[in-house]
Amino acid sequence: MQKMTVQDIDIKGKKVIIRLDFNVPLDESFHITDERRITSALPTIRYALSNGASKVILMSHLGRPKGTGFEKDFSLLPVANRLQELLKEKVLFLNDCVGPAVREAIAKSSERVVLLENLRFHKEEEKNDPAFAKELASLADVYINDAFGTAHRAHASTAGITAYLPSVAGFLIEKELLYLGNAINNPKRPLVIILGGAKVSDKIELIKNLIPKANSIIIGGGMAYTFLKAQGINVGNSKLEKDKVDMARDLMEQAKKAGVEFALTSDFVITQDFTSDDCKISDVIPDGWQSLDIGPRTIKRYEEILSKAKTVVWNGPLGVFERDAYAKGTRAIADYLASLKDVTVIIGGGDSAAAVAKFGLEDKMTHISTGGGASLEFLEGKELPGIAALNDKK
Ligand code: AMP
Repeated sequence: MQKMTVQDIDIKGKKVIIRLDFNVPLDESFHITDERRITSALPTIRYALSNGASKVILMSHLGRPKGTGFEKDFSLLPVANRLQELLKEKVLFLNDCVGPAVREAIAKSSERVVLLENLRFHKEEEKNDPAFAKELASLADVYINDAFGTAHRAHASTAGITAYLPSVAGFLIEKELLYLGNAINNPKRPLVIILGGAKVSDKIELIKNLIPKANSIIIGGGMAYTFLKAQGINVGNSKLEKDKVDMARDLMEQAKKAGVEFALTSDFVITQDFTSDDCKISDVIPDGWQSLDIGPRTIKRYEEILSKAKTVVWNGPLGVFERDAYAKGTRAIADYLASLKDVTVIIGGGDSAAAVAKFGLEDKMTHISTGGGASLEFLEGKELPGIAALNDKK
């Protein structure tokens, strides 16, 4: 880790402000349906408390409010309540994140832990507005960023604030960079990459960056059909990005030149109607049909490749896993990965993490990233502004 972490700085007696990613999914009754983002934040919060920070001020966004003030649907109150239970310590929840009332409430509070209301109730947050960043900074003496899920965004609370305070990484960011970084830059080989999800256009940069690093690349999900089309295979009404067919051909040529095995879907679970669960397994996709999952022969082929792997990185589901009729391929590969011994298995965030959670296999994976977009950008080889802005190790 090139950046200073919370262990490289003295926080005793200091007020620390920690940016976390508490962007958790809520149901209609405001119950948290997946609390991993809260539990992953606990090590840094607990460390700050047990190392004598005088105040631990927490901040996050939740969802996509308009940026024009309070909206109940996006309040962090449910997070404050759950956090209090997990920490077994009272959390003071404030109804805003900046302003004199916030400053006064923090100064007067007897609680050690404070959670500020959703940063994105202020449009200045996403604009990385310097005055807003300075206001946030004025609440504390030290800034800790542990919001891996938003590290790919240069916002006031992830980038701007670092101009005003000593700025270090928390344990979650440190862990994410270690696992994701080692997996692609220093992996035990063979390194097998599994890519799925809806669109090729979202993953082109990723594939380009991974071709020189991987031993094998497995392509499934909706993006496979653009590659199959590039090989002259009929894909019927399956997901296809016509304007990316040439790019797909080019990527396959690059892989071939680099000696990287490139495995595509070779049998299909097809339907005539996307909304119907009426489907069949087929070696071809006739006109009027579309493929929504990988077939059994493809599963077997992918498992053969994975059986040799020492490191696996998986980003994107292999079918429409949200629906049981089309979840079999994604589930089979998740089960297979869960059964592997002595293999490092890294699940990129977003939908692949949701799939692994749906199948109850989270504990069987080496690391599941808490960042969808952030892990994608990191694996693409891009610099994450929220991490670049932190102080370098001395
Ligand atoms: P992404 O956000 O790019 O990772 O895409 C995830 C989405 O891709 C999920 O909602 C899946 O339902 C969808 N998906 C996976 N396979 C297919 C497919 N064969 N056809 C259409 N959508 C798919």
